[in-house]
Amino acid sequence: MPVILHRYNFPTEVWFGAGARGLLPDKLKEAGVRRPLLVSDKGVSRQPFFDDIRRLCGAAAVYAEISGNPVESHARGALEAYDDGACDGIVAVGGGAAIDVAKAVAVMTGHKGRLFSYAEGVPGQKPISGKVPPILALPTTAGTGSEVGRSTVISEDDSHVKRIIFSPKLMPRAALLDPELTLGLPGPVTAATGMDAVTHLIESYITAGDYNPLCDGVALEGLRLAAKSLKRCVTHPGDVSARGDMMNAALMGATAFQKGLGATHSCAHALSTVTDMHHGLGNGIMIPTVMAFNRSVCRPRFKILEATVGARDLVAWLRALNKAVGIPATLAAAGVKKEALPKLVAAALADPCHQLNPRPVRRKDFERLFAKAWAG
Ligand SMILES: [Zn+2]
Repeated sequence: MPVILHRYNFPTEVWFGAGARGLLPDKLKEAGVRRPLLVSDKGVSRQPFFDDIRRLCGAAAVYAEISGNPVESHARGALEAYDDGACDGIVAVGGGAAIDVAKAVAVMTGHKGRLFSYAEGVPGQKPISGKVPPILALPTTAGTGSEVGRSTVISEDDSHVKRIIFSPKLMPRAALLDPELTLGLPGPVTAATGMDAVTHLIESYITAGDYNPLCDGVALEGLRLAAKSLKRCVTHPGDVSARGDMMNAALMGATAFQKGLGATHSCAHALSTVTDMHHGLGNGIMIPTVMAFNRSVCRPRFKILEATVGARDLVAWLRALNKAVGIPATLAAAGVKKEALPKLVAAALADPCHQLNPRPVRRKDFERLFAKAWAG
């Protein structure tokens, strides 16, 4: 009998609570960082708390030029700021884009050549064998959970092709989850990032990926929190308690998906590449259709998910949640042109996430999924 071993790994130090940003000076000291680069995006740098964070971390340099999906030129710009400031560590404040750029800069500081020569699956992929400076992460959205992840997703500037760079060294030293930082998040971003978290929680729970009952427990409690509080975050954006629930749900989603994800993510990745759609918005629109496709092969797990969210039918619940938070019901309503569908099918097929979908997805399945999600 071959020995099959399963690894459970929950290593990130997390501090949660209103005002958690106040721990920044202590955590930087513990990590031995004296001259941090502060990485953020344009929108966040205009928020009232930004100057507070700049002061708390004693930033030696600031790079806050990120907008939209993170691309290679953002990472190059941030590296320049890092070098100019003679920095020795990175504080990332923002959504997944800012945290992912921070991780990319961390790689570039000690690894020569083009960033993408270290990306997963490129010909002659180089190993991340050198030093990587410490990263502290302060998320300002509740969605990607990049603050506990060990990979970064950066797109090529021209082609928008997403490249994944993975190394346990990219895991932030600590994540400071301060729900006050999410209070200014606009409704559509709250909704889209929240549906990304919901998709992580559901896809990881039913994935054909690794056996990991700890992750399963994390996914269910995370989904319960999201079911309780996502809508409230959109209707009552200043509710710190609901915002806190969603920050935890997002963190738990990213923790759970070390098991694997599924076809919804392949569709969302295709939508980002082909139409530059926000990742969470793509997941939100696609997940009801993909879950209707999956239902026949995961009935027992669907029952548990339905009990967790307090609904009879997971697919109907997802459609209702989308409606309640303002996510369009179809790709057409989100502005995707019908001519884009063949490109979307090709990009989704090429994406690795669907390989762990509980029901195998072939080309004709993706054709049907996108056609259904387009027209409704
Ligand atoms: Zn995602």
